Amino acid sequence: MYLDELYKKNDFTLSFEIFPFKKWSNKKIYEMLFELSKLNPDFISITYGAGGTKRGLETLDIASVIKDEYNIEPMIHLTGINSSKEEIDEILDEVKRRDIKNILALRGDINKDINKKIEFEYAKDLTKYIKSKNKEIVIAGACYPQGHSINSNIDEEIEHLKQKIEAGAKFLITQLFFENERFYEFKDKLVKKNINIEVIPGIIPVTNKKQLNKIISLSNASVPKDLLRMLNKYEDNKQALKEAGTIYTSKQIIDLLSYKTKGIHLYTLNNHEITKKIKDNIDPLIKLNSNII
Ligand code: FAD
Repeated sequence: MYLDELYKKNDFTLSFEIFPFKKWSNKKIYEMLFELSKLNPDFISITYGAGGTKRGLETLDIASVIKDEYNIEPMIHLTGINSSKEEIDEILDEVKRRDIKNILALRGDINKDINKKIEFEYAKDLTKYIKSKNKEIVIAGACYPQGHSINSNIDEEIEHLKQKIEAGAKFLITQLFFENERFYEFKDKLVKKNINIEVIPGIIPVTNKKQLNKIISLSNASVPKDLLRMLNKYEDNKQALKEAGTIYTSKQIIDLLSYKTKGIHLYTLNNHEITKKIKDNIDPLIKLNSNII
């Protein structure tokens, strides 16, 4: 299924993001995929490491399992900045062979250990290249409601986003954020600039303070006071933070539903228990909401 069509067809689309485990053969990943599949996501995206082709093949292998064993649509992430054309070609050949229909095309972050000529400087360059090789494939792009960590000038970011869409991106998934108002302001700005493709909020569960601090430090996301208070209060009590955090994230999603978002992309952090808790919280409302929209 091409995901741009899915967003058109569905009132609401719930998708998950996972990342390859360090040891792909680890049976933990099968357990996780089995548990996540029971939650009936509309699709699952798989991240792509910065280290070249082998990482790409891991991502593809997981995508094939999701597609062939669980009958769920996968979307692979693919980054350009550290890859040569030959490496991208190799991945794209596999994408065709495995009948993968959707790619989230990204720039990636430069890996200083990889010393080679840059062939895909921005995501738009990779997007254009993929399109030239495979006309059918649906390409998504990333966007940053609070600006990218290397450029917090939202107006400039939006101009670059336009180029990415012109290159072929059909829908966008956001960087994580906690303040929905920032996302709504961003959406308003996009509409003013005539950007009307689907922009799907990427939402991260707030159930592990250490992990979250690391992720937040890499993003431009502002942390509201109530979230900070909750993290400080429960940081030493794993179970309490899990309970409070899943409610907090569910509440954030409920507000996004009120805004009539067409979908949520949940960064699962490979934790199926927390994903299930959040899904259970929002599911009845999603079912009712589809009648209301
Ligand atoms: P781009 O769209 O190329 O933008 C990067 C920066 O360049 C922006 O500041 C943009 O404004 C600027 N820019 C774009 N075009 C121009 C231009 N013409 N002139 C000047 N500046 C320009 N990373 C991974 O390694 N693996 C993953 O699997 C992965 N998954 C992700 C999933 C999502 C949903 C998101 C939001 C991010 C993900 N990332 C991943 C991180 C991403 O690779 C980094 O944030 C990266 O720094 C930017 O990628 P991009 O595709 O947004 O880049």
